[in-house]
Amino acid sequence: MLPDYHFHTDFSGDSSTPITAQIKRAIELGMESLCVTDHHDYDVECPIDFTLDIDRYMKTMPLLKEEYKGRIDLRIGIELGLQTHLKDYFDWLLSAFSFDFIIGSTHFVNKKDTAYPEFFEGREERDAYLQYFQTTLDNVRNLDHYDVAGHIDYVVRYGPNKSRFYSYEGYQDILDEILRTIIERGKGIECNTAGFRKGIGQPNPCIPILKRYRELGGEILTIGSDAHVPQDLGADFQRSRDLLLECGFSYYTEFKERKPEFKPL
Ligand SMILES: [Zn+2]
Ligand SMILES: [Zn+2]
Repeated sequence: MLPDYHFHTDFSGDSSTPITAQIKRAIELGMESLCVTDHHDYDVECPIDFTLDIDRYMKTMPLLKEEYKGRIDLRIGIELGLQTHLKDYFDWLLSAFSFDFIIGSTHFVNKKDTAYPEFFEGREERDAYLQYFQTTLDNVRNLDHYDVAGHIDYVVRYGPNKSRFYSYEGYQDILDEILRTIIERGKGIECNTAGFRKGIGQPNPCIPILKRYRELGGEILTIGSDAHVPQDLGADFQRSRDLLLECGFSYYTEFKERKPEFKPL
């Protein structure tokens, strides 16, 4: 099975799964490689603490990498919550710690969690979606601290109508600008299969965005389940692989020491 490049463990504020349970599940599924990407959302206003204990994380993961050597190739990543005011902090973070892979995700807008209903209160859903996309654009344009942009249309999982009135065409201008910026900067995107489990019926980003990214020349693409529990690891990978082939991709990407490795789909 394709390696899962987006999953969480009890190092993340919203998971209680031991990392060993995720690794064992990946071996069971026949993955040859796996990249752990626990949450680090720094300086946000949220009831859940999404701050990663990076010291402990970066001491634990290399030991597990060694322990499971020969059975699975564990790569050490992080899902970094992008916010432009944290540029100096991110500079420090990435000089202090070496990751194989960084997912840069937009979860917070003006420090507010877009997964909570308060983000949508008192305004049109479209305004909230546009603000989310604008923030994503600011992040991918002004920061360099990521390899792929995480789940680009994540916000549509949480709007009052979810993806009912959402389409790529409805937001094409800003979405194209996001994709062009990512490509120009030599970065990539991910195909996040949690969309299937969140009731959207497709990955995040949606199929037309994946297609458009490829059309615009995008090549760097990782695949991740965003699993917080072992039963979700690698979920919907087979159908996503078929979708990606239909979207025009022939390769997916793995990362080692932040360098992309292209593998046939
Ligand atoms: Zn995320
Ligand atoms: Zn995640």
